[in-house]
Amino acid sequence: MNEKAKKLSKENIIVDGHIDLPFRLYKENLLEEENINLNKNTSGNFDTYKAKKGGLNCPFMAIYTPSEKSENESYTFANSLIDLVNNVIKSNKEFDYAFTPKDVIKNFKKNKISLPMGMENGSPIGKDINRIKYFFDRGIRYMTLTHAADNQICDSSYDSRNTWNGLSDFGRKVVREMNKIGMMIDVSHCTDKTFYDILKITNKPLVATHSSPRKFTPNFERNMSDNMIKDLASNNGLIMLNFGSGFISEQSNKSFGDINSKVEKYKIESNLKDSDKKILKYKDDLINTVKPFASINDFVDTIDHVKELVGIDHIGLGSDFEGLGNTLPYDLKDASTYPNILYKLLEREYSQIEIKKICSDNLFRVWNANLQNRQI
Ligand SMILES: [Zn+2]
Repeated sequence: MNEKAKKLSKENIIVDGHIDLPFRLYKENLLEEENINLNKNTSGNFDTYKAKKGGLNCPFMAIYTPSEKSENESYTFANSLIDLVNNVIKSNKEFDYAFTPKDVIKNFKKNKISLPMGMENGSPIGKDINRIKYFFDRGIRYMTLTHAADNQICDSSYDSRNTWNGLSDFGRKVVREMNKIGMMIDVSHCTDKTFYDILKITNKPLVATHSSPRKFTPNFERNMSDNMIKDLASNNGLIMLNFGSGFISEQSNKSFGDINSKVEKYKIESNLKDSDKKILKYKDDLINTVKPFASINDFVDTIDHVKELVGIDHIGLGSDFEGLGNTLPYDLKDASTYPNILYKLLEREYSQIEIKKICSDNLFRVWNANLQNRQI
């Protein structure tokens, strides 16, 4: 990696649409902990050491609720993850709050990393539309309407039931209320029909915080088709590109699919529970033998593709760090690796203005547009 890429990563504000740090810390039993020290080199994808090295200034913290939780449990759980992020900010002088792009710029000038929050899965809203304002007031700036399963709001691309054939009636109210409150609508994880239902009624630009073009993974509905990306661009929205090997390379997607089937078979044949450590070990051994990782060039190809399709104004970065397990591409393994992307972009003759748009300006445009004309 050359010095110019390193320098650019320091000069530009780098925003990442989706990092699952809160759920990782929950799994590390830190939910009740008031003092959470991230100012060290941890074994995770993200900590202050890696973020500083990578020039990352604004990772959106995913307040993620697993689909299995009931609506009541989801509400309590989301609140506890928000408390956790607040504790992370209080415990590390390198971090600060950010509720607007202006806050991010201010923090950047003070050499601080902003930790804005997005909610992944709308289940914590339950059937109470007022909770959208409640969570906005707690700092949530986008909501991914669903996750792995259909919920009360809409259908998920990972669920074959098609419960609502897109948005539910309540989901339509949620979209209108989010527009009013100024919370960005995240279309990652939605079915195609859900996406088009949202597009029909939203009056603000949408964001996909961690999705990739389906062109590279033809049968993977979790990613977006070229037509969807074009329609997202007409809405002045943004696709923040996922780093996961299975999101950006068909071969990796297939290999990881095969590995997951083998793991499922092993689990059933050995009569093991999901949480059994033997399953993780079995999976890790398979991954380390097959090494089905994509390359950084595969990732930059997804940037090229969206640029060719709809222009530079609709591209951002949405790593999905801490949420992808051992599936990250070579040279994109953690938050220290953003300069590798900039290096490749320079090599492919992207201008500094284009790089700045990808790193932060595009997301700032969408975020500001959502904050304008709030009706509260
Ligand atoms: Zn996700």
